Amino acid sequence: MHNAAASAGDGTARPAPVLSVVIPIYNEQEALPLTVARLRPILDGLGVDYEVVGIDDGSTDATPVIMQKIRQEWPELRIVRFARNSGHQAALTAGIHRALGHYVVSIDADLQDPPEKIVDMFTLARDEDLDIVYGVRGDRGTDTFFKRRTAGAYYWLMRKLVGKNMPNQAGDFRLLSRAAVDALKSLPEHQPVYRLLVPWLGFNSGEVVYVREERVAGSTHYPLSKMIRLALDSITNFSAAPLRLATWLGLTSFLVCFALAIYTTLQYTFGSTVPGWSSLFMGMLFIGGVQLVCVGLLGEYIGRIYSAVQARPAYFVGYDSAEEAPAAQPRASEYAA
Ligand code: UDP
Ligand code: MG
Repeated sequence: MHNAAASAGDGTARPAPVLSVVIPIYNEQEALPLTVARLRPILDGLGVDYEVVGIDDGSTDATPVIMQKIRQEWPELRIVRFARNSGHQAALTAGIHRALGHYVVSIDADLQDPPEKIVDMFTLARDEDLDIVYGVRGDRGTDTFFKRRTAGAYYWLMRKLVGKNMPNQAGDFRLLSRAAVDALKSLPEHQPVYRLLVPWLGFNSGEVVYVREERVAGSTHYPLSKMIRLALDSITNFSAAPLRLATWLGLTSFLVCFALAIYTTLQYTFGSTVPGWSSLFMGMLFIGGVQLVCVGLLGEYIGRIYSAVQARPAYFVGYDSAEEAPAAQPRASEYAA
Protein backbone atom coordinates (compact mmCIF):
# COMPACT_ATOMS: atom_id res chain seq x y z
CA MET A 1 0.00 0.00 0.00
CA HIS A 2 2.79 2.39 0.88
CA ASN A 3 5.78 3.07 -1.28
CA ALA A 4 8.87 3.04 0.88
CA ALA A 5 10.95 5.27 -1.30
CA ALA A 6 10.09 7.49 -4.19
CA SER A 7 12.19 9.44 -6.56
CA ALA A 8 11.95 13.14 -5.99
CA GLY A 9 13.01 13.78 -9.55
CA ASP A 10 16.51 14.96 -8.66
CA GLY A 11 18.13 11.58 -9.09
CA THR A 12 18.20 10.75 -5.39
CA ALA A 13 15.82 8.26 -3.83
CA ARG A 14 14.38 9.84 -0.71
CA PRO A 15 12.23 7.99 1.74
CA ALA A 16 8.63 9.03 1.20
CA PRO A 17 7.36 11.46 3.83
CA VAL A 18 4.53 10.33 6.08
CA LEU A 19 2.39 13.34 5.29
CA SER A 20 2.01 15.54 2.22
CA VAL A 21 0.05 18.77 2.38
CA VAL A 22 -1.19 20.01 -1.00
CA ILE A 23 -2.07 23.69 -1.30
CA PRO A 24 -3.49 25.19 -4.52
CA ILE A 25 -2.36 28.80 -4.61
CA TYR A 26 -3.58 31.49 -6.98
CA ASN A 27 -2.73 35.15 -6.39
CA GLU A 28 -2.48 34.77 -2.64
CA GLN A 29 0.29 37.28 -1.91
CA GLU A 30 -1.48 38.64 1.18
CA ALA A 31 -2.79 35.37 2.55
CA LEU A 32 0.18 33.09 1.93
CA PRO A 33 2.62 34.39 4.58
CA LEU A 34 -0.15 34.26 7.20
CA THR A 35 -1.11 30.74 6.15
CA VAL A 36 2.48 29.52 6.33
CA ALA A 37 2.99 31.16 9.75
CA ARG A 38 0.04 29.20 11.11
CA LEU A 39 0.58 25.96 9.21
CA ARG A 40 4.28 25.38 9.81
CA PRO A 41 4.30 25.07 13.64
CA ILE A 42 1.42 22.60 13.36
CA LEU A 43 3.23 20.39 10.88
CA ASP A 44 6.54 20.65 12.76
CA GLY A 45 4.69 19.66 15.93
CA LEU A 46 3.27 16.49 14.35
CA GLY A 47 6.60 14.76 14.84
CA VAL A 48 6.54 12.99 11.46
CA ASP A 49 8.37 13.52 8.21
CA TYR A 50 6.27 15.76 5.97
CA GLU A 51 6.32 17.76 2.76
CA VAL A 52 4.21 20.66 1.61
CA VAL A 53 3.39 20.78 -2.10
CA GLY A 54 2.47 24.34 -3.04
CA ILE A 55 0.87 24.46 -6.48
CA ASP A 56 1.20 27.96 -7.87
CA ASP A 57 -1.68 28.05 -10.33
CA GLY A 58 -0.11 30.64 -12.61
CA SER A 59 -0.26 33.54 -10.15
CA THR A 60 0.27 36.98 -11.65
CA ASP A 61 1.04 38.84 -8.43
CA ALA A 62 4.02 38.49 -6.06
CA THR A 63 3.02 34.95 -5.01
CA PRO A 64 5.90 33.12 -6.83
CA VAL A 65 8.51 35.42 -5.28
CA ILE A 66 7.00 34.98 -1.83
CA MET A 67 6.93 31.21 -2.28
CA GLN A 68 10.61 31.09 -3.21
CA LYS A 69 11.45 33.19 -0.15
CA ILE A 70 9.47 30.89 2.12
CA ARG A 71 11.14 27.85 0.61
CA GLN A 72 14.59 29.14 1.49
CA GLU A 73 13.72 28.85 5.17
CA TRP A 74 11.36 25.93 4.87
CA PRO A 75 12.95 23.11 2.85
CA GLU A 76 9.85 20.94 3.32
CA LEU A 77 8.05 23.25 0.88
CA ARG A 78 8.05 21.99 -2.68
CA ILE A 79 6.96 24.49 -5.30
CA VAL A 80 5.19 23.41 -8.46
CA ARG A 81 4.37 26.27 -10.77
CA PHE A 82 1.89 26.06 -13.63
CA ALA A 83 2.69 27.79 -16.87
CA ARG A 84 -0.70 29.54 -16.64
CA ASN A 85 -3.81 29.63 -14.53
CA SER A 86 -5.54 26.28 -14.95
CA GLY A 87 -8.03 26.26 -12.11
CA HIS A 88 -8.40 24.96 -8.58
CA GLN A 89 -9.20 21.35 -9.53
CA ALA A 90 -6.26 21.18 -11.96
CA ALA A 91 -3.99 22.45 -9.19
CA LEU A 92 -5.36 19.77 -6.87
CA THR A 93 -4.71 17.16 -9.55
CA ALA A 94 -1.08 18.19 -9.91
CA GLY A 95 -0.66 18.19 -6.14
CA ILE A 96 -2.21 14.78 -5.67
CA HIS A 97 -0.17 13.32 -8.53
CA ARG A 98 3.12 14.70 -7.25
CA ALA A 99 2.68 14.23 -3.52
CA LEU A 100 4.80 11.40 -2.16
CA GLY A 101 3.40 11.00 1.35
CA HIS A 102 1.61 8.00 2.87
CA TYR A 103 -1.18 10.46 3.62
CA VAL A 104 -2.10 13.45 1.51
CA VAL A 105 -4.08 16.38 2.88
CA SER A 106 -5.42 19.11 0.58
CA ILE A 107 -6.12 22.52 2.06
CA ASP A 108 -6.88 26.03 0.75
CA ALA A 109 -4.29 28.77 0.94
CA ASP A 110 -6.56 31.36 2.53
CA LEU A 111 -6.94 29.82 6.04
CA GLN A 112 -10.64 29.18 5.49
CA ASP A 113 -9.83 25.58 6.38
CA PRO A 114 -8.21 25.64 9.83
CA PRO A 115 -4.81 23.89 9.58
CA GLU A 116 -5.14 22.69 13.20
CA LYS A 117 -7.67 20.18 11.92
CA ILE A 118 -4.94 18.44 9.91
CA VAL A 119 -3.76 16.97 13.21
CA ASP A 120 -7.26 15.61 13.94
CA MET A 121 -7.56 14.17 10.43
CA PHE A 122 -4.15 12.56 10.62
CA THR A 123 -4.73 11.03 14.06
CA LEU A 124 -8.18 9.77 13.11
CA ALA A 125 -6.90 8.17 9.90
CA ARG A 126 -4.03 6.50 11.72
CA ASP A 127 -5.98 5.31 14.75
CA GLU A 128 -8.91 3.95 12.83
CA ASP A 129 -7.00 2.95 9.70
CA LEU A 130 -9.17 5.09 7.44
CA ASP A 131 -8.47 5.85 3.80
CA ILE A 132 -10.40 9.10 3.65
CA VAL A 133 -11.12 11.75 6.26
CA TYR A 134 -13.45 14.53 5.10
CA GLY A 135 -13.37 18.00 6.49
CA VAL A 136 -17.05 18.76 6.94
CA ARG A 137 -18.17 22.36 7.27
CA GLY A 138 -20.19 22.65 10.42
CA ASP A 139 -21.05 26.28 10.06
CA ARG A 140 -20.88 28.60 7.08
CA GLY A 141 -21.79 31.69 9.06
CA THR A 142 -18.85 33.60 7.63
CA ASP A 143 -19.79 32.94 4.01
CA THR A 144 -22.08 35.33 2.22
CA PHE A 145 -25.80 34.54 2.00
CA PHE A 146 -25.41 33.96 -1.75
CA LYS A 147 -22.48 31.56 -1.29
CA ARG A 148 -24.36 29.60 1.38
CA ARG A 149 -27.47 29.21 -0.75
CA THR A 150 -25.63 28.24 -3.93
CA ALA A 151 -23.41 25.84 -1.97
CA GLY A 152 -26.50 24.36 -0.28
CA ALA A 153 -28.16 23.74 -3.65
CA TYR A 154 -24.92 22.32 -5.08
CA TYR A 155 -24.46 19.78 -2.28
CA TRP A 156 -28.12 18.78 -2.38
CA LEU A 157 -27.87 18.04 -6.10
CA MET A 158 -24.52 16.25 -5.79
CA ARG A 159 -25.83 13.97 -3.07
CA LYS A 160 -28.68 13.08 -5.42
CA LEU A 161 -26.14 12.20 -8.14
CA VAL A 162 -23.40 10.45 -6.19
CA GLY A 163 -25.54 8.98 -3.45
CA LYS A 164 -25.50 9.10 0.31
CA ASN A 165 -21.81 8.15 0.30
CA MET A 166 -21.12 11.80 -0.18
CA PRO A 167 -20.95 13.72 3.06
CA ASN A 168 -22.88 16.97 3.06
CA GLN A 169 -20.83 20.17 2.97
CA ALA A 170 -17.50 18.44 2.38
CA GLY A 171 -15.29 20.52 0.11
CA ASP A 172 -11.68 20.00 -0.86
CA PHE A 173 -10.26 19.99 2.67
CA ARG A 174 -9.62 16.29 3.24
CA LEU A 175 -7.10 13.59 3.94
CA LEU A 176 -6.42 10.70 1.57
CA SER A 177 -4.38 7.58 2.19
CA ARG A 178 -1.82 6.40 -0.35
CA ALA A 179 -4.31 3.74 -1.48
CA ALA A 180 -6.98 6.37 -2.15
CA VAL A 181 -4.46 8.61 -3.93
CA ASP A 182 -3.32 5.75 -6.14
CA ALA A 183 -6.95 4.95 -6.95
CA LEU A 184 -7.57 8.58 -7.93
CA LYS A 185 -4.39 8.66 -10.00
CA SER A 186 -5.56 5.62 -11.95
CA LEU A 187 -8.76 7.35 -13.09
CA PRO A 188 -8.80 8.65 -16.66
CA GLU A 189 -10.78 11.80 -15.77
CA HIS A 190 -9.95 14.96 -17.65
CA GLN A 191 -11.93 17.35 -15.52
CA PRO A 192 -11.85 15.61 -12.18
CA VAL A 193 -14.13 16.97 -9.49
CA TYR A 194 -12.55 15.49 -6.41
CA ARG A 195 -15.34 16.20 -3.99
CA LEU A 196 -17.45 13.78 -6.04
CA LEU A 197 -14.79 11.29 -7.11
CA VAL A 198 -13.46 10.70 -3.61
CA PRO A 199 -16.81 9.60 -2.10
CA TRP A 200 -17.47 7.62 -5.27
CA LEU A 201 -14.35 5.50 -4.55
CA GLY A 202 -16.22 4.09 -1.58
CA PHE A 203 -13.17 3.65 0.67
CA ASN A 204 -13.76 3.61 4.40
CA SER A 205 -13.96 7.13 5.66
CA GLY A 206 -14.34 9.38 8.66
CA GLU A 207 -15.24 13.02 9.19
CA VAL A 208 -13.75 15.93 11.04
CA VAL A 209 -16.14 18.82 11.58
CA TYR A 210 -14.77 22.33 11.35
CA VAL A 211 -16.00 25.87 11.18
CA ARG A 212 -15.24 27.57 7.90
CA GLU A 213 -13.41 30.69 8.82
CA GLU A 214 -13.30 33.98 7.01
CA ARG A 215 -10.72 34.36 4.28
CA VAL A 216 -7.64 35.73 6.00
CA ALA A 217 -6.72 38.22 3.26
CA GLY A 218 -7.41 38.98 -0.39
CA SER A 219 -10.64 38.05 -2.09
CA THR A 220 -12.22 34.91 -3.52
CA HIS A 221 -11.03 33.56 -6.86
CA TYR A 222 -14.29 31.73 -7.35
CA PRO A 223 -16.50 34.15 -9.22
CA LEU A 224 -19.94 33.03 -10.36
CA SER A 225 -18.57 31.86 -13.73
CA LYS A 226 -16.14 29.42 -12.07
CA MET A 227 -18.88 28.22 -9.72
CA ILE A 228 -21.17 27.49 -12.67
CA ARG A 229 -18.34 25.67 -14.41
CA LEU A 230 -17.69 23.51 -11.36
CA ALA A 231 -21.40 22.71 -11.08
CA LEU A 232 -21.64 21.80 -14.79
CA ASP A 233 -18.51 19.65 -14.59
CA SER A 234 -19.88 17.95 -11.50
CA ILE A 235 -23.23 17.14 -13.07
CA THR A 236 -21.93 15.95 -16.43
CA ASN A 237 -19.15 13.95 -14.74
CA PHE A 238 -21.59 11.92 -12.77
CA SER A 239 -24.85 11.76 -14.61
CA ALA A 240 -26.45 11.47 -17.99
CA ALA A 241 -29.76 12.52 -16.41
CA PRO A 242 -29.82 15.91 -18.19
CA LEU A 243 -29.77 14.03 -21.51
CA ARG A 244 -32.83 12.10 -20.39
CA LEU A 245 -34.38 15.40 -19.37
CA ALA A 246 -34.15 16.34 -23.05
CA THR A 247 -36.14 13.23 -23.95
CA TRP A 248 -38.81 14.07 -21.39
CA LEU A 249 -39.04 17.67 -22.52
CA GLY A 250 -39.38 16.50 -26.12
CA LEU A 251 -42.06 14.01 -25.16
CA THR A 252 -44.01 16.60 -23.19
CA SER A 253 -43.91 19.06 -26.05
CA PHE A 254 -45.02 16.31 -28.43
CA LEU A 255 -48.03 15.54 -26.21
CA VAL A 256 -48.94 19.23 -25.92
CA CYS A 257 -48.70 19.60 -29.69
CA PHE A 258 -50.83 16.51 -30.17
CA ALA A 259 -53.53 18.01 -27.93
CA LEU A 260 -53.24 21.30 -29.82
CA ALA A 261 -53.64 19.46 -33.13
CA ILE A 262 -56.88 17.88 -31.94
CA TYR A 263 -58.08 21.24 -30.66
CA THR A 264 -57.28 22.94 -33.97
CA THR A 265 -59.04 20.24 -35.97
CA LEU A 266 -62.13 20.61 -33.81
CA GLN A 267 -62.04 24.40 -34.22
CA TYR A 268 -61.71 23.93 -38.00
CA THR A 269 -64.75 21.63 -38.14
CA PHE A 270 -66.73 24.25 -36.23
CA GLY A 271 -65.69 26.81 -38.81
CA SER A 272 -63.57 29.12 -36.67
CA THR A 273 -60.19 29.16 -38.34
CA VAL A 274 -58.83 32.67 -37.84
CA PRO A 275 -58.61 32.80 -34.04
CA GLY A 276 -56.00 30.46 -32.76
CA TRP A 277 -53.01 31.87 -34.51
CA SER A 278 -51.66 32.95 -31.12
CA SER A 279 -51.79 29.42 -29.75
CA LEU A 280 -50.03 28.26 -32.91
CA PHE A 281 -47.40 30.88 -32.43
CA MET A 282 -46.93 29.89 -28.81
CA GLY A 283 -46.67 26.25 -29.79
CA MET A 284 -43.95 27.13 -32.26
CA LEU A 285 -42.01 29.12 -29.72
CA PHE A 286 -42.36 26.34 -27.19
CA ILE A 287 -41.09 23.65 -29.53
CA GLY A 288 -38.29 25.92 -30.68
CA GLY A 289 -37.29 26.48 -27.07
CA VAL A 290 -37.38 22.81 -26.21
CA GLN A 291 -35.25 21.99 -29.22
CA LEU A 292 -32.66 24.60 -28.36
CA VAL A 293 -32.49 23.37 -24.77
CA CYS A 294 -31.95 19.83 -26.01
CA VAL A 295 -29.28 20.87 -28.49
CA GLY A 296 -27.57 22.81 -25.72
CA LEU A 297 -27.61 19.77 -23.45
CA LEU A 298 -26.14 17.61 -26.18
CA GLY A 299 -23.51 20.29 -26.71
CA GLU A 300 -22.44 20.13 -23.05
CA TYR A 301 -21.76 16.43 -23.33
CA ILE A 302 -20.31 16.47 -26.83
CA GLY A 303 -17.98 19.28 -25.77
CA ARG A 304 -16.72 17.12 -22.95
CA ILE A 305 -16.40 14.05 -25.15
CA TYR A 306 -14.43 16.19 -27.58
CA SER A 307 -12.00 17.42 -24.97
CA ALA A 308 -11.65 13.87 -23.61
CA VAL A 309 -10.78 12.67 -27.12
CA GLN A 310 -8.28 15.47 -27.54
CA ALA A 311 -6.78 14.27 -24.25
CA ARG A 312 -5.01 17.52 -23.60
CA PRO A 313 -3.43 17.69 -20.16
CA ALA A 314 -5.35 19.85 -17.70
CA TYR A 315 -2.21 21.81 -16.82
CA PHE A 316 1.41 22.35 -17.72
CA VAL A 317 4.06 22.51 -15.05
CA GLY A 318 6.53 25.27 -15.79
CA TYR A 319 8.69 24.72 -12.73
CA ASP A 320 9.03 22.15 -9.97
CA SER A 321 11.47 22.82 -7.15
CA ALA A 322 11.96 19.07 -6.64
CA GLU A 323 13.27 18.73 -10.19
CA GLU A 324 15.93 21.37 -9.70
CA ALA A 325 19.45 19.94 -9.72
CA PRO A 326 20.59 20.71 -6.18
CA ALA A 327 23.76 22.79 -6.70
CA ALA A 328 25.21 22.23 -3.24
CA GLN A 329 24.84 18.46 -3.36
CA PRO A 330 26.79 16.72 -6.12
CA ARG A 331 25.39 13.41 -7.28
CA ALA A 332 26.67 10.13 -5.89
CA SER A 333 28.35 9.31 -9.24
CA GLU A 334 30.50 12.41 -8.94
CA TYR A 335 31.85 11.20 -5.64
CA ALA A 336 32.87 7.90 -7.20
CA ALA A 337 35.29 9.48 -9.67
N1 UDP B 1 -7.35 28.67 -6.50
C1 UDP B 1 -6.54 28.14 -7.52
N2 UDP B 1 -6.83 28.45 -8.82
C2 UDP B 1 -7.92 29.22 -9.17
C3 UDP B 1 -8.75 29.71 -8.14
C4 UDP B 1 -8.45 29.42 -6.82
O1 UDP B 1 -5.56 27.46 -7.24
O2 UDP B 1 -8.11 29.46 -10.36
C5 UDP B 1 -7.02 28.35 -5.09
C6 UDP B 1 -6.99 29.53 -4.14
O3 UDP B 1 -5.71 30.12 -4.09
C7 UDP B 1 -7.38 28.90 -2.82
C8 UDP B 1 -8.33 27.79 -3.25
O4 UDP B 1 -8.05 27.52 -4.60
O5 UDP B 1 -6.27 28.33 -2.15
C9 UDP B 1 -9.79 28.16 -3.05
O6 UDP B 1 -10.08 29.36 -3.75
P1 UDP B 1 -10.90 30.56 -3.11
O7 UDP B 1 -10.52 30.74 -1.68
O8 UDP B 1 -10.72 31.75 -3.98
O9 UDP B 1 -12.39 30.02 -3.22
P2 UDP B 1 -13.57 30.09 -2.14
O10 UDP B 1 -12.97 29.65 -0.84
O11 UDP B 1 -14.01 31.50 -2.13
O12 UDP B 1 -14.59 29.14 -2.66
MG1 MG C 1 -11.43 30.48 0.07
